[in-house]
Parts: sequence; structure tokens; C-alpha cells
Amino acid sequence: MDDMATNIAVLYDLLRDEYRIKAAKSGFEALEIARGKEKPDLILLDIEMPGMDGYEVCKALKSSEETNHIPIIFVTAKSGIKDEEYGLNLGALDYIAKPFHPTIVKIRVRNHIALKLKSDLLEELSMYDGLTHIPNRRFFEEVYEKYYKKSLREGRSMGVLMIDVDHFKNYNDYYGHGKGDECLVKIAETLKNTLKRPGDIVARYGGEEFVILLYDVDADGVKTVAHNLVDSVAQLNIVHEFSSAARQVTISVGAALSKGVEEGKKELLERADEALYRSKQNGRNRCAC
Ligand code: GH3
Ligand code: MG
Ligand code: MG
Repeated sequence: MDDMATNIAVLYDLLRDEYRIKAAKSGFEALEIARGKEKPDLILLDIEMPGMDGYEVCKALKSSEETNHIPIIFVTAKSGIKDEEYGLNLGALDYIAKPFHPTIVKIRVRNHIALKLKSDLLEELSMYDGLTHIPNRRFFEEVYEKYYKKSLREGRSMGVLMIDVDHFKNYNDYYGHGKGDECLVKIAETLKNTLKRPGDIVARYGGEEFVILLYDVDADGVKTVAHNLVDSVAQLNIVHEFSSAARQVTISVGAALSKGVEEGKKELLERADEALYRSKQNGRNRCAC
């Protein structure tokens, strides 16, 4: 992203065969692109631009959670040691002085993109469960924190549903761990498919336990989802002859609806857990809200 049309054109020609490029003629435009839906994998940023300069753009990008992971390379005529030091201290990954050597720019861009793709992959692996491919507990904790704060801010209710597979130890013992794994994959998929709204989240909480977050729901909504979950897992009809709850694999669900500021986020989870315990006590293959 550059102030001078010619520089943009040179960089564009240099990189267009390997990458999709969006050009911005001012700092504001650059920020707009970076904050858009499709995040860039790399930003080439000039320092001397009209209005907001490159340092300001870099600061703005690095200060927001939405954009602070995007790598930035300064491509600039301000090539003194102090300038470079300042730019790198702002969080830029690299600094290329103008006039630049095309081949060097190309190689540096390739290296930085490769690093970015690796770090994206790691990020994804650290947030998803290897067996079921749904979000893991770490992902859940992050979203839960976000939703909890958002629900207080916006005065909306949030639903938490704790899910535990019934008599799963027996299932493993009699059908084998491999079949147990297959069963967990099917259950995860079913839970995911039962959720209808884009903001609904299902995660593997640990072992044979799952957790679901519903944003902006009322008690009826939570109950309906909880019932649907229990029904759709039972309808998978995975035979389980060693369950006291049914002839097939079933789940128990405990649901809780947030109460706003009067309840901490830990307490809300505990209430869902208590409800789950009641479902188990009452015979499993059911929900308690
Ligand atoms: P309850 O109805 O009271 O929940 O009984 P349960 O047998 O499901 O409860 P328990 O907590 O005793 O057993 C959980 C079992 O889940 C034990 C463990 O072997 C199994 N499990 C946990 N994670 C995995 C996994 O990744 N794969 C498989 N196959 N089994 C798992
Ligand atoms: Mg359990
Ligand atoms: Mg269980």
C-alpha cells in the first residue's frame, strides 16, 4: 500500500502473478481494507503518505485485535537506521528501503507469506479438536469470554448447554476405543448440524463432553435446542446394548440461561453443569434446564 501510483504499479506488476493484491492510495484506505472481511496475509506499507502516515497506520493495525496478526513490511524511502528501528518497534516484521530491488522484494514477500500461512495453520490446529474437527476447549474459553462480555454490554441473554455422552465408558469397554472414537465424531457432527444460527458454537469440552453456546436466546429457545440435541443423537441409532438409558447411544444435556451482571461467567457454567447432573440423575437421555 503506497502513496505514489507508480510505486504501487511497480509492486503490483512484481507480485500479481503469485498473489491477489489490493492497493490503497492512503492510510485510511489501507485500514479499511485490513478491517474488511477478507484479511490480507501481508501488508506492504509506505511511510510517507498524505493524511495518515504509514507509522500511524501500523500503530492502528497493531492496536486492534482484529488486525494485529497481519504481518507488515515497510517499503519506504525513509531508510535511516532510526526510521527502521522506529518502524520495527511499532511491530512491523520487515523493512525494505526504496529504491528496492525487485527480486529481493519478491523473495522477502514469499518468505513472509510462507511464515504467515504456517502460523495460520498452527493457530487453527491449536483451536480445533483433532478427532472431531470441531472447536476445542481453548477455542470455547475464548468465545465464551467474548460472548459473556458482549451479553452484558448488549443486555442480551446467552445460553450454555453442557452435553455428556451416556454410559460411554461401557461403550468403549464393549465395542472398543476405535468404535468409541467413531461415535464421538458422529455425535460432534450431529450436534453441529442441529444448531441453526451462525453465532451458535459447539466445542469439545473434553473426553466425551461437549459444550454449546447460544447467543441472544430466551428460555424457550434454549429448551428447544436442548431437546433437539437429545433427539438427534438418539436418532443416530448407534446401538449401545450396555446402556441403562436406551438401546442406542444417547446424551444428557444441562442448560442454563445467563442472568446478566448478577452472575459471573464461572457460575453460569456451573449452573449448566448442575443441570447436566440432574439429567443424569433423572435417567439420562434427556435435558434439564
Ligand atoms: P455417564 O453416563 O455417567 O456419563 O457415564 P460414562 O461412562 O459416560 O462416564 P465416565 O466419565 O465414567 O466415562 C467417560 C468415558 O469416555 C471414559 C473414557 O474412556 C471415554 N472417553 C473419553 N474421551 C474419549 C475419546 O477420545 N475416545 C474414546 N473412544 N473414548 C473416550
Ligand atoms: Mg463425562
Ligand atoms: Mg458420560
